[in-house]
Amino acid sequence: GVDYTGKKVLVLGAARSGFAAARLLRRLGAEVTVNDKKPLAEFGGDVEALQTLGIELIGGGHPEGIVHPGLDLVVKNPGIPYSAPPISAALALEIPVVTEVEIASALISAPIIGITGSNGKTTTTTLVGKMLEAADLHPVVAGNIGRALSEVATDVTADQWLVAELSSFQLMGTREFRPKIAALLNIYAAHLDYHGTLDEYRDAKYRLFANLQGDDVAVLNWDQEIVRDVAGITAARIFPFSAKQVLEEGVFVKDGHIHAIRNGQSLSLLPVADVALRGEHNLENVLAAAAIALSAGAAPEKIAEVACTFRGVEHRTEYVRTVDGVEYFNDSKATNAEAAMRAISSFTGSVVLIAGGLDRGTTFPELVPVFRQHVKHLVALGEAADKLRHVADLAGVSSEKVDSLDQAVRQAAQAARSGDVVLLSPACASWDMFASFEERGSMFKKAVHTL
Ligand code: ADP
Repeated sequence: GVDYTGKKVLVLGAARSGFAAARLLRRLGAEVTVNDKKPLAEFGGDVEALQTLGIELIGGGHPEGIVHPGLDLVVKNPGIPYSAPPISAALALEIPVVTEVEIASALISAPIIGITGSNGKTTTTTLVGKMLEAADLHPVVAGNIGRALSEVATDVTADQWLVAELSSFQLMGTREFRPKIAALLNIYAAHLDYHGTLDEYRDAKYRLFANLQGDDVAVLNWDQEIVRDVAGITAARIFPFSAKQVLEEGVFVKDGHIHAIRNGQSLSLLPVADVALRGEHNLENVLAAAAIALSAGAAPEKIAEVACTFRGVEHRTEYVRTVDGVEYFNDSKATNAEAAMRAISSFTGSVVLIAGGLDRGTTFPELVPVFRQHVKHLVALGEAADKLRHVADLAGVSSEKVDSLDQAVRQAAQAARSGDVVLLSPACASWDMFASFEERGSMFKKAVHTL
């Protein structure tokens, strides 16, 4: 293991994962400072408890000299850009800059399953957790979902599995991180405002596979070339999944049934019609989860059992309520066009769509055909409202603009008829009007319950 005794570590970003990393490093003997530009009162955790442990906390800015040649390591919050002054100062001094995933993973004795992709991470990670649970393989689910890796690092034992949902922001800050099973679900041109170019975004995702060896497994979406290309850069054994083609090895659909071929052995999982989650995108998530769970040693019937019963995670095409024959669904987590597109097209009836949010510069061209095919009326809100209304115009769909989510729900209810679906699937991040997609989804559900 790594010896942190006496090492000087600067943790940048006083959120939950930063606090967890600080605690862990302190416990291992490091001298730790946590710094954020926000004031101490807004730090994301128990400030006093950390001070009691001897962790130095500095808020309200990055003081002169916070990054100095005597530092051994900088642990950065995934959301802080590399262009931020303290990060570029550290890099200029050749001080290693990592995310907490890197330090936590080095201390985790359990084999790690790392799951990344543009969309479907939380759903797939949750499915894998449930499949391994059903198979008595004692998974611990962490990462971008709930607890930080640093919070669980010293609790997981070697006979368990650590199932980690990982964002590209987290992966960019890894160096020696080596999961036993690494899965890349898909790559869509989302999040490009942070990563700059698609190349950078792809490279961040590819980092998950950088240190894999021959006895590790890479689970790849065989329907996307950009994902298949990982096969050329990793030493791991490839175990693919596909919703579109029959594979010689991997998990796939044939004649309406999910099959797997593993080490040349044919396994029957379940009929596609029995999958409890709705939509083609979720079928992909189930195939991915099955490929991961099989690689971890779960029995096919345990995998099938979970696929038949798991109905989804909150804010992901979540059923809310039926009013006057109209079903309401909360898909607040659809923060990009691709995600919204998948959710919208998973409904066979006509959809009254509530969409809009933070304007990332896109004009949503990919939504035009889905609007034409599935959407009967658009209620637009947020910064991107006018751009989405333009999409509706192009698709020949009626639209209106509102100022609040409450108003959006009321207007959508007016436009919907029995048999229709009202769907919140914003295609945008929430930060123009809400603190988070969770807050947006909860407010939507509240509004729906007061109808
Ligand atoms: P993530 O954690 O990657 O954001 P989630 O599982 O939370 O993904 O799903 C977020 C949204 O993305 C869902 O509500 C759905 O609209 C869409 N989505 C889920 N899985 C996929 C997929 N495999 N491909 C495309 N879109 C998806």
